Amino acid sequence: MSTAQEAGREALVERFIEAFPDAAGHEDELVVTRAPGRVNLIGEHTDYNGGFVLPFAIDMDVRLVVRPRDGSGVRITRADTGESAAFELGPFPAPGSAWHDYIAGTAWALRQHDQPVGGFDGLLLSTLPIGSGLSSSAALEVVTAWALSAPRGPSVPPLEIARIAQFAENEHVGVMCGLMDQFASACGVAGHALLFDCRSTEWQAVPLPRDLSLVVIHSGVSHGHADNAYNDRRAACERVVAAAAAADPSVTLLLDIDMERLHACRGRISASDHDRAHHVITENERVLDAVEALRADDHASLGELMAESQASMRDLYDITCPEIDELVALTIEAPGVVGSRMTGGGFGGCTVSLVQ
Ligand code: ADP
Ligand code: MG
Repeated sequence: MSTAQEAGREALVERFIEAFPDAAGHEDELVVTRAPGRVNLIGEHTDYNGGFVLPFAIDMDVRLVVRPRDGSGVRITRADTGESAAFELGPFPAPGSAWHDYIAGTAWALRQHDQPVGGFDGLLLSTLPIGSGLSSSAALEVVTAWALSAPRGPSVPPLEIARIAQFAENEHVGVMCGLMDQFASACGVAGHALLFDCRSTEWQAVPLPRDLSLVVIHSGVSHGHADNAYNDRRAACERVVAAAAAADPSVTLLLDIDMERLHACRGRISASDHDRAHHVITENERVLDAVEALRADDHASLGELMAESQASMRDLYDITCPEIDELVALTIEAPGVVGSRMTGGGFGGCTVSLVQ
């Protein structure tokens, strides 16, 4: 461990003792973990359709300091607001989407995956903006899964941590997100984006261009109330799968069909569902093309692919908003910008630009 990390740990331990004075003298029992947020370079809403995504972990993160306790009681304090929550770990926790439900849900998800989890005190600190499309929710679940699995058993592999974290968000919080966010937070590699095949869960790290910077800009619009719209988009994809499966039962995911087979479904799906599927199918191709462009250091193609992705999210998947569209239009005009698009689930949040 580096000196900087040790210094970081010392400060966190000090803050933990301020929040939980009875931990004084028990510093060696404290577990400090971190999980980063993520930005997706390209490949939006492809993950739950069995496609490819290309996220990278960022240097803003969520940290959790935990002191395991006997019994099943949990006390948790968040450093940013000073709010506290207390609950018991039980076999059937009531689902919810309050901030502490992400923690309770992950503890429950770990137990559902045969990980021994007991009571604990926890202090939560974060440098990640919340509800901005940088996946503070996934980082919170992943950091909780790391922290609670660390003290009590053999270490859990990163991809399994991601699956458990996703299970918590799906089954406890009720957001039907794919695996991308939790995967990127748990498996991130410095200086690389991660090409992730959401169907096979195989992945590889793809070096990011050293001569380009990644600039992420918040639109000022929080996507906080977009859960219904997100679930609506998933439902549209499922309707198209059902229509295609009627002709060919081997179709189980949207990315089992290509544009030709989508066109063949025309009479059986609405025009809007056709647009949604059109976005997903072409966006998936753009991810693979972007990886090729990255490997070839082909900036012009990267810029074009990002522009096509942005137009498709705006016109076909209908997940951008005026502020995001304006921000992309402004950034693309700025000197040195190779490409710009919205990143994340949509309805606000951030743009990502590749900049010389
Ligand atoms: P995103 O993942 O894009 O940041 P979400 O709406 O999916 O946005 O998740 C945000 C929610 O996650 C917050 O409303 C809160 O409940 C929880 N959360 C994330 N980070 C923190 C944190 N540092 N402290 C408390 N709650 C957090
Ligand atoms: Mg989230």
